[in-house]
Amino acid sequence: MQLDANIPSGPLSEKWDKHRFELKLVNPANKRKYSIIVVGTGLAGGSAAASLAELGYYVKNFCIQDSPRRAHSIAAQGGINAAKNYQNDGDSIWRLFYDTIKGGDFRAREANVYRLAQVSNHIIDHCVAQGIPFAREYGGLLANRSFGGAQVARTFYARGQTGQQLLLGAYSSLMRQVAAGQVTLFPRREMLDLVVINGQARGILVRNQITGEIESHAADAVVMCTGGYANVFYLSTNAMASNVSATFRAYKKGAFFANPCYTQIHPTCIPVHGTYQSKLTLMSESLRNDGRVWVPKMPGDKRPPNQIPESERDYYLENKYPSFGNLVPRDVASRNAKGQCDLDKGVGETGFAVYLDFKDAIKRDGKDVIAQKYGNLFQMYEKITASNPYEEPMMIYPASHYVMGGLWVDYNLMSNLPGLFVLGEANFSDHGANRLGASALMQGLADGYFVIPYTIGGYLAGTDRPEVTTDHPAFKDAVHYVSERINKLLSINGKRTVDDIHRQLGHILWEYCGMSRSDEGLLKARKLIQELRGEFWENSLVPGSSEDFNQSLERAGRVADFLEFAELLVIDAFERKESCGGHFNEAYQTEENEAKRDDENFCHVAAWEYKGDDTEPELHKEPLVFKNVQLTQRSYK
Ligand SMILES: Cc1cc2nc3c(=O)[nH]c(=O)nc-3n(C[C@H](O)[C@H](O)[C@H](O)COP(=O)(O)OP(=O)(O)OC[C@H]3O[C@@H](n4cnc5c(N)ncnc54)[C@H](O)[C@@H]3O)c2cc1C
Repeated sequence: MQLDANIPSGPLSEKWDKHRFELKLVNPANKRKYSIIVVGTGLAGGSAAASLAELGYYVKNFCIQDSPRRAHSIAAQGGINAAKNYQNDGDSIWRLFYDTIKGGDFRAREANVYRLAQVSNHIIDHCVAQGIPFAREYGGLLANRSFGGAQVARTFYARGQTGQQLLLGAYSSLMRQVAAGQVTLFPRREMLDLVVINGQARGILVRNQITGEIESHAADAVVMCTGGYANVFYLSTNAMASNVSATFRAYKKGAFFANPCYTQIHPTCIPVHGTYQSKLTLMSESLRNDGRVWVPKMPGDKRPPNQIPESERDYYLENKYPSFGNLVPRDVASRNAKGQCDLDKGVGETGFAVYLDFKDAIKRDGKDVIAQKYGNLFQMYEKITASNPYEEPMMIYPASHYVMGGLWVDYNLMSNLPGLFVLGEANFSDHGANRLGASALMQGLADGYFVIPYTIGGYLAGTDRPEVTTDHPAFKDAVHYVSERINKLLSINGKRTVDDIHRQLGHILWEYCGMSRSDEGLLKARKLIQELRGEFWENSLVPGSSEDFNQSLERAGRVADFLEFAELLVIDAFERKESCGGHFNEAYQTEENEAKRDDENFCHVAAWEYKGDDTEPELHKEPLVFKNVQLTQRSYK
């Protein structure tokens, strides 16, 4: 099957304008007749639901948390990119586009990325109008800082709480529409299935987490904004409820899953400190603006950092990559940290950490300036580690953080299933094989505020859809399937906790499909995952009942999906015989140990189709065509 990305014709810079003009419109009176389901209330879902309702559509908006404000997006710390060039340091839409394409190791679609860069500037204006308290310069202009993979400062921020402030903006817009009756909120609901009728997405099934009731909801279109699956690694920086279930269930209903092996390991997280830890904490990439990364030059050196003289420190990123220094992209920084630890230069008790040192910045700018920029992050670090980063360097290590893979979408952000749109981290679209810092918030808000309001109109006005209610047999079938699965989970009655099995899955993936991969390791991982899945269905313990609040049941459902999805992730990694961005297969590296792509054979999106539980998934390839940039070996030297 040939996947059609529906990329508009014409010059790159004119595609979006042309497309918006050509898309069919729904007249205001007709918008009232259409209902749209939006799953998710993070930056992608919140902005989409608010914008669609503002246009006049009737929106049903679902989330797992008790309030839309608690979506995982609230955790975003460092900032949001835009090509405003307020710093006059050479930024432009083209440069943001190019940096993103290059940062993603030439594995993203040119047209989508260019649109993202164009729209980035509107996002900042929109958010300022909402009252988002972005940091400002002394003269009142919005301030910027630098993030990895860029040599310009284009990141807008609100201290270390940018996601929270942006989410409050989206939430305010959303609540305005709730008050107007255009949006009905469904908190504490978990999507358990997608309903497809005549090949079109027409509804969802959710479990009411308080009463346990399975509810059916029909609509003219479904917009999924359910975030990323980094929790498949068990330990990650994501919120505990982040999951793959929603997108994986859609995959099982026919939506293609694209590039599942593109996962991002973030270089600056607080290192793992115990076996029974359930969560990892990010130290924002913004810290690499002022913090310097180093390890002792001598392997096995266990002296405390302040006893290691300057001449015996290796600022390995600055030395190896003089142009970008500490601000190389995340995949590069993470692999280098691992490389240093593999050489026995890692620090701290476990040896799985490197230093991030603010001594020089504090000497240069003063403690107050550093506290103003990163105060809440320093406080968070001290609370968790009992070490004061103003006095001694932070210890950091890479951790699973973000995923570039997700459901396949075309230029309109519609999946291969008509009527199913996918936004934000849940889709695969804009970051290729590695996302640059501060670009996820940009993408989520671009998708929700500026893309879906146009493209969904084109779909609704341009397709015939029969009247559908939840009495349709497809809904009954889905209720039957979902209820059976819940009963099966509750009846396993084994001995191992679901968390324990999830932890083991995380170990397998981290070991064999994490920062560095090999064919041999991937084959082993696949076998181990299959065995573990078998054990889950035979020997896990899911207490309680389905008819009330049962977090063990919720978790078990998510882990069951992770156990299936993990195999797809590994299959995808095995199939991609090259290294690119976050996907690093040891067999494919340059002499300097950088990722080595194979553009001749792998310059494509790998989109996987579900074929049945006991059948191999089928691979569909969307070729990536680069007409505006030249494919080169990435260099940050
Ligand atoms: C610690 C941390 C810091 C970060 N900092 C930055 C940063 O500074 N800049 C940047 O650009 N990016 C950052 N990121 C990445 C960024 O925060 C995320 O990629 C982005 O917020 C995802 O937004 P989203 O709307 O797609 O999904 P989310 O915010 O994850 O929202 C998902 C929504 O879907 C709902 N949902 C999920 N599954 C279901 C289901 N089965 N049923 C019903 N509802 C469901 C959830 O309840 C939630 O409302 C950071 C990430 C982390 C982990």
